[in-house]
Amino acid sequence: MATMRVVQVSRPQGSLEIVVRPIPEPGQGEVRIKVQACGICHSDAITKEGLFPGIWYPRVPGHEVAGVIDLVGPGVPGWQSGQHVGVGWNGGYCGYCDHCRRGDFFACVRGQTTGVTYDGGYGEYMVAPASAVALMPAELPAVEAAPLMCAGLTTFNALRNSGARPGDLVAVLGLGGLGHLGVQYAAKMGFHTVGIARGKDKESLARQLGASIYIDSQAQDPAAELQKLGGAKVILATATSGDAMKAVIGGLLTSGTLLIVGAAESLEVSPIFLLMGNRSVKGWYSGTSIDSQDTLAFSQRTGVRPMTEIYPLERASEAYERMMSGKARFRVVLTMES
Ligand SMILES: [Zn+2]
Ligand SMILES: [Zn+2]
Repeated sequence: MATMRVVQVSRPQGSLEIVVRPIPEPGQGEVRIKVQACGICHSDAITKEGLFPGIWYPRVPGHEVAGVIDLVGPGVPGWQSGQHVGVGWNGGYCGYCDHCRRGDFFACVRGQTTGVTYDGGYGEYMVAPASAVALMPAELPAVEAAPLMCAGLTTFNALRNSGARPGDLVAVLGLGGLGHLGVQYAAKMGFHTVGIARGKDKESLARQLGASIYIDSQAQDPAAELQKLGGAKVILATATSGDAMKAVIGGLLTSGTLLIVGAAESLEVSPIFLLMGNRSVKGWYSGTSIDSQDTLAFSQRTGVRPMTEIYPLERASEAYERMMSGKARFRVVLTMES
């Protein structure tokens, strides 16, 4: 029987261990993917630490998958082997529950999560439902495409659904794994793009990514600076700090939106400030496979690329620690070619 190497977690809070397993067969409605690269995301801690109830172990984490279809299971119209594809956090949906019938596929009651409810991309092969698969431009290198499946998708899809129009002032709070992509997307979408982060040293990075204005939130009051510029139509909050969000929200224009993609624990906000200016605070959920497909195509056409640190699969444990340290610039990616 043909075998593959995967990196699995055998119990909650267990270590990432490399093991050899049989290559799985795709079932009804599934495809098998030869994985080329897989990004390491902070949400992989859910699998590693057992933060969701009901995860079955051993489990292979990884929801920033880039690879090639090598076998198509029965009952999968529209896909064929040899196609370059990606799989993200949304691990597929049923298509017939009430949420799916309303078009809210992300909220599917039978929805799956890649690398959480089934084995993900920390390995040489994986099997995924066809509804989870996004077509990927073949010219996009797998190590660059992988982080676009989560960090890229989340910021791209949030911004394009934010209500901001070309020319509007859009600020991106935080210049990390999500933010460094968010600034690029905002600039390429034609927004007047402001980067906000802590420290003067981030300014050149923000400008290199396409921000026309940089606000150092340590040296300046970011809300006051945004108001001097006329106020932001949208502030995309990628930082995971409620205090950092509280410090910028006063920079919103009337009818402006603080759009949250950073998983902060809590946020204090003035209802009077919201209602007097018709402002809103909104969360954004990332996206499904077709949103990933749009993210990849847009990134390929416009040159949006993640900044990455690349590790071979066998160093997954070290790579995961690097991601958790918060010191990576900016996304850590596993490559299957050793
Ligand atoms: Zn993720
Ligand atoms: Zn459904």
